[in-house]
Amino acid sequence: MSDGQRETTPGAGLVKGLATTLKTMVTPSHTAEYPHRLPELPPRSRGVIGLFEENCTVCMLCARECPDWCIYIDSHKEPVPPARPGGRERSRNVLDRFAIDYALCMYCGICIEACPFDALFWSPEFEYAEYDIRDMTHERDRLREWMWTVPPPPANDPGAPAPKEVDAAAKTAAKAEPPRSNDAARPQPPWEAGDDGG
Ligand code: SF4
Ligand code: SF4
Repeated sequence: MSDGQRETTPGAGLVKGLATTLKTMVTPSHTAEYPHRLPELPPRSRGVIGLFEENCTVCMLCARECPDWCIYIDSHKEPVPPARPGGRERSRNVLDRFAIDYALCMYCGICIEACPFDALFWSPEFEYAEYDIRDMTHERDRLREWMWTVPPPPANDPGAPAPKEVDAAAKTAAKAEPPRSNDAARPQPPWEAGDDGG
């Protein structure tokens, strides 16, 4: 017998193959039967982009930075009356159309990173396959609907300072709060009134 030849028992290969099949049959499967079982996705999964249009100032940064040119924005300008008499009239951008073509999007997230006003967010939702490629362009209303599927941000580390947005919002809210007219008449608790009774 030459070195390259080995002595084999007839049928050994068949038995080995059947043993492998049997072992695979009794081993628990790692695959999930989608769509009967939905996958447990990490909270920061890149499924679809939600638009919070109240925050959008139509600055166009996202559309300019998108490497696929798949964000479509239309807007017009509207005059804003002056804040005080004699002031200068200003104008603001009003959003007419905001759409993302998911047939082109490569889910890079650059638009979300580039948005300076927190108007775009990742949602882990991914079930929006279509038969017609034109339906892969999600218009403003649909992008807004995705917003409600965006998970809350993770909690801050213990002892971390409050995010600057929260501080800014609290200051704005404090400034916007009208002075209470009955503050003077408000009965003062003893620790505020001071002790003049000796
Ligand atoms: S994720 Fe990337 S490709 Fe998709 S819309 Fe945003 S910037 Fe464009
Ligand atoms: S970058 Fe943000 S604020 Fe500017 S147009 Fe895009 S979504 Fe709107």
